[in-house]
Amino acid sequence: MAKKTLICIVCPRGCHLEVDENFNVTGNFCKRGIAYAKEELTTPTRTLTSTVIIRGGVIPRLSVKTSAPIPKEKIFEVMEEIRLVKLEAPINVGDIIIKNVANTNVDIVATQTINKQ
Ligand code: SF4
Repeated sequence: MAKKTLICIVCPRGCHLEVDENFNVTGNFCKRGIAYAKEELTTPTRTLTSTVIIRGGVIPRLSVKTSAPIPKEKIFEVMEEIRLVKLEAPINVGDIIIKNVANTNVDIVATQTINKQ
């Protein structure tokens, strides 16, 4: 493997990392960058945020997110499941909207409360 470069997204400092063929990481200001680079190059994951349609509420869309990071390759499958959801108000922050989304063992949860109109 040739040297790979990536930007650490763990904090706003955004260190420019270089990873060699033995997974030695340089350019990191702190050790969280090492863990990030190793994970990103082996099993990349992301926390996903989105919105779903909600009927009968004071606003028409509800903000949701994954309850934990999901594998990057599952993002489109998860987005498709989220797109198909249609809810009825009321919904409370923390409510599970989709259990085990796309067989990831991660749930989609509400990040806001929407009361009935
Ligand atoms: S390496 Fe550390 S300081 Fe640099 S962006 Fe990542 S978390 Fe922030």
